[in-house]
Amino acid sequence: MSNGNLTLRYVVPFIISHYKRIKPLNLCKEVVWKIGGAGVAGSYLYGRMKSAGFDVEIYDPKVEDFYIPCGFGTNRFKIEPFLRNLSIDFNEIVETPKAKVIVSGNNFAETEFKWNGLCTVDKMKMEKMMRGNMSYIRSIIKPDKDPIIDCTGISRAYLGKSSGDVTMYGIEKVCERSPFEGFYFNFFKGGRGYFWSFPVGKRYHIGAGGIDLSEVRNHIEPYECTRIVSRKIRMGPSADGIVKGNVFGVGESIGYISPLLGEGIVPAMENAEKFFQIIKKNDDMEEISLIYQRSIARDLERFSKISKLVQNIQNGKAINFENISVLRKALNEVNNFGMKPDFLKIIRHFL
Ligand SMILES: Cc1cc2nc3c(=O)[nH]c(=O)nc-3n(C[C@H](O)[C@H](O)[C@H](O)COP(=O)(O)OP(=O)(O)OC[C@H]3O[C@@H](n4cnc5c(N)ncnc54)[C@H](O)[C@@H]3O)c2cc1C
Repeated sequence: MSNGNLTLRYVVPFIISHYKRIKPLNLCKEVVWKIGGAGVAGSYLYGRMKSAGFDVEIYDPKVEDFYIPCGFGTNRFKIEPFLRNLSIDFNEIVETPKAKVIVSGNNFAETEFKWNGLCTVDKMKMEKMMRGNMSYIRSIIKPDKDPIIDCTGISRAYLGKSSGDVTMYGIEKVCERSPFEGFYFNFFKGGRGYFWSFPVGKRYHIGAGGIDLSEVRNHIEPYECTRIVSRKIRMGPSADGIVKGNVFGVGESIGYISPLLGEGIVPAMENAEKFFQIIKKNDDMEEISLIYQRSIARDLERFSKISKLVQNIQNGKAINFENISVLRKALNEVNNFGMKPDFLKIIRHFL
């Protein structure tokens, strides 16, 4: 064999594999990861990465314990496995473990849905415990070469604004009393949103979310409260991508949220866990980017279909056989939130 052939066969592959092993900036275990946003997604991911030995920092400009509007409703059976990953006992964060679930809608009177895990938790305490009771760096991230994980929810502060985002208005009151027993939902006509009253320990979170701000305001107007907060909520996957250069989106920032109910706590953890598993098993940033996008594509497609179905209903388009299967997926989201829906009643509501 000539010298030239030897070089091609042995020396070049050796140099390439050696180069792959030593290119330090692209190896995910050798960089400082910066998480933007200490909400559910960011705090969960921080806890997982820290305990696995990653070099990770978490940033958020909000004051500690700042209450960002959220009903604090979640499904005990769905959240517990994620809490266990961080050795958190559900009993330490639960506010109301179980209560009656009453649902009413446009075409149906108040009905009791079977309870399937719906509860409320102390979200801020949970987030802190997920960070190992550590605070976060009270600042925004100054972007440089380090990878950033954008967990900034509706802001998408590092991924950048997305065009054509599907959002709703959300307003919530913290009340000492509620006329509703247990968990109460009232769905607005034409899939335009819903009203809720959730027991949170000794308090209640009474709120409404919808596409028409005055309708949302009217629904919560009558209730006396100690506090009122509002923000928009993303109701579908972001059309503008989930990875941009060295910025990876996780949680509501990329629309990883149930578009029917705006349930985002468990989905944020689910998304963060998927991201964590990928960076744990892979080293190369480009590979991580591809694998991550591929691995959550199916979830985002499901959210996207449900989001489109909700928009169609809002635009007065009738449900046909083709989207009955999507409606079933949507009802599964109701189940995931912790209540067993009456399929026929819900279908009638939307027809
Ligand atoms: C009114 C309302 C009620 C809701 N009720 C429920 C409910 O009962 N159950 C449920 O499951 N879901 C509910 N949701 C949705 C749920 O709260 C969110 O989807 C979920 O919290 C998303 O988590 P996240 O970590 O992705 O984002 P978030 O929890 O929104 O956290 C984003 C964090 O990013 C921080 N941030 C912003 N800009 C920057 C920046 N430049 N740098 C660093 N940090 C930054 C913010 O301060 C914030 O702490 C509700 C939403 C609304 C609006």
